[in-house]
Amino acid sequence: MSRDPRYDILFEPIKIGPVTAKNRFYQVPHCTGMGYLRPRMLADMREMKAMGGWGVICTEYNSIHPSSDDLSHASASLWDDSDVRAHALMTEKVHAHGALAGAELWYGGIRTANMLTREVPMDLASFPNAKGHPFQTRAMDKSDIRMFRHWHRKAALRAKEAEFDIVYVYATHDYLISNFLNPHMNTRGDEYGGSLENRTRLVRELIEETKEAVGDRCAVAVRFAADEQIGEDGVPIYGERREMFEMLAEMPDLWDINVADYSLEMGASRFVKEAPLEPYMDFVKSVTSKPVVTVGRFTSPDTMVSQLKRGVVDMIGAARPSIADPFLPNKIAEGRIDSIRECIGCNVCYSGDAIGVPIRCTQNPTMGEEWRKGWHPEKIAEKGSDSKILIVGAGPTGLEAARALGARGYDVMLAEATRDLGGRVTRECALPGMAEYVRVCAYREQELLNMPNVEVYRESALTAEDVFATEADHVAIATGAIWRRDRFNDEAYVSIAAEGTAPEILTPDDIMDGTLPKGPVLVYDEDGYYMGGVIAERLKDAGLDVTLATPSDQISQWAGKTAERWRVRTHLMKLGVKIIVSHSLTTFDGKTANLACEYSGAALPLPVSSVVMVTQRTPNDGLYRDILAKVDGKIDELPFTLKRIGDCEAPAIIAAAIYAGHKYARELDTVVDLDEPMKHDRVDVGDIPFGKA
Ligand code: ADP
Ligand code: SF4
Repeated sequence: MSRDPRYDILFEPIKIGPVTAKNRFYQVPHCTGMGYLRPRMLADMREMKAMGGWGVICTEYNSIHPSSDDLSHASASLWDDSDVRAHALMTEKVHAHGALAGAELWYGGIRTANMLTREVPMDLASFPNAKGHPFQTRAMDKSDIRMFRHWHRKAALRAKEAEFDIVYVYATHDYLISNFLNPHMNTRGDEYGGSLENRTRLVRELIEETKEAVGDRCAVAVRFAADEQIGEDGVPIYGERREMFEMLAEMPDLWDINVADYSLEMGASRFVKEAPLEPYMDFVKSVTSKPVVTVGRFTSPDTMVSQLKRGVVDMIGAARPSIADPFLPNKIAEGRIDSIRECIGCNVCYSGDAIGVPIRCTQNPTMGEEWRKGWHPEKIAEKGSDSKILIVGAGPTGLEAARALGARGYDVMLAEATRDLGGRVTRECALPGMAEYVRVCAYREQELLNMPNVEVYRESALTAEDVFATEADHVAIATGAIWRRDRFNDEAYVSIAAEGTAPEILTPDDIMDGTLPKGPVLVYDEDGYYMGGVIAERLKDAGLDVTLATPSDQISQWAGKTAERWRVRTHLMKLGVKIIVSHSLTTFDGKTANLACEYSGAALPLPVSSVVMVTQRTPNDGLYRDILAKVDGKIDELPFTLKRIGDCEAPAIIAAAIYAGHKYARELDTVVDLDEPMKHDRVDVGDIPFGKA
């Protein structure tokens, strides 16, 4: 297939200072949870995007000096020569595919406590740490500012030595440089505080010094917020931003624009849709002649073209769309729009950095596995035999297993009990705000349409006898999991029904099946991710009086890792959902739910007519056990190999289900070394002989 001429504009080269990007696809800096700890994994991951057609590939934030470290979040670093060598792994690979490599220089200030290096953090004044660590910053005096500029310059020179093409001055996201710009924070009495001229002095100096140091060969980009404060979504509060832009407009070679509200810029799809920054961009292009890029979770080429044609931006910035589909540009170039694996906006990718572990992605199971497992998002080994495969259950696990096995060329039967494919995803995406999750199924169903070797059997609830009758050589049971009605009390699953009563205790499955509980209702959330909040919202929308309670100190605490938690709570409060934290549910008799304080044990009786338990899930592994029972549990005596995969094996997030299905498909008919199943990227001490360290 060939490219639709409508999309030609996306493939026009563009000059960025002394360098030229081959097209308009710009992977903006994004964290990975790998940073300086896992350079090989990082280099191969970034290479994949270059291979997939992105014109510019940037690093994550690079600490310029030990006085700004972010552990337990692994940033990249440009402290010394060994950092240069680590980065060169990436730049070499990125250049090999004709893309430019960009390095984002970073200094954390108020947002770093330097837990690794124990250096005293610095910012423009003595501030409390913005992440809640009981450490304050030292107020930078003029010699500190001079040192900071010196370190910034040295890091820029190292970036150039590592063969980067674009070097960033990172003046946003509440890190040091942006704080100098901030009229509320910057109350300094010297030439770096007070007037607009003074507050922009540092960023002007950094642009000039970076240009002087590396500008002969590298473009200098500035990352900058278009608005000054967080307001209602889509309603910018510009403050002095326009004046600032006008002062700096022609200084850098490229503007990378974002907004003050990170939860909008990187908004979860439950709350934020494609291109949310457009209302903030309206003046930017009018004040600068330099190329402008911004993000917007762009996955539609039509939206991208519209952004370029209407002069909103010059380049299409992307972090998440490039994670979900590293080959997005090539797919547009090749007229394969239907094959784009669209980001669902779940922000599981961000959770890696938030937790301090390597990145993963719900849509792209190969993300982060490029080096250590050799997985490629678009290529997979040909089948290793003429075996016939049966996959039972077409949730995310089964769909991905069938898709990947189909791509390997196997004859696959995919049996699904219901009419709809997609399992939990199809059910969940009908809940409030969850619609974009349907892309998990849409991409896979679309791919299956082009695979004559994969037969899909809907409304086919298989029994053990049915499985034997298929005469498959390999059987994977992907029958998922169901929500429990009880709860785990740290040791065992226990019922909450008060003795001698049979009250209405529902689960998310009941709500998704259309059951409406009697109100007032308590949604009791021990799961801690999105489901509790989403079910509460669904019931509130239905007009019920809803209380959401959790034993955690936070509502949807795990959704803090995906940067959703704050929005979840605000949203529920606006809807009028009552919230109780730090309480566990002990009993319910149909009239009163008895909650107990997690700290004091004090009882909190809550008058409600029903309870929805969002606690744990039970693997739906009856079919797996029925099959095994046919051979008295002797799995080797089956006429086929048997595996349970995904939620049927161990309930987890959707990303884990997709990964499980993919892994099954990859590993079929291959020899996996169970002792060393993957390469281990880590800090390497080289060839130091024993006893010589
Ligand atoms: P996962 O997240 O692991 O993919 P899901 O719960 O989303 O799990 O999906 C499991 C799917 O398996 C559901 O669509 C369900 O209807 C289907 N299923 C369950 N039991 C059977 C069975 N015996 N035969 C066919 N399909 C089944
Ligand atoms: Fe998009 Fe979710 Fe993948 Fe992140 S993890 S890129 S938000 S699909």
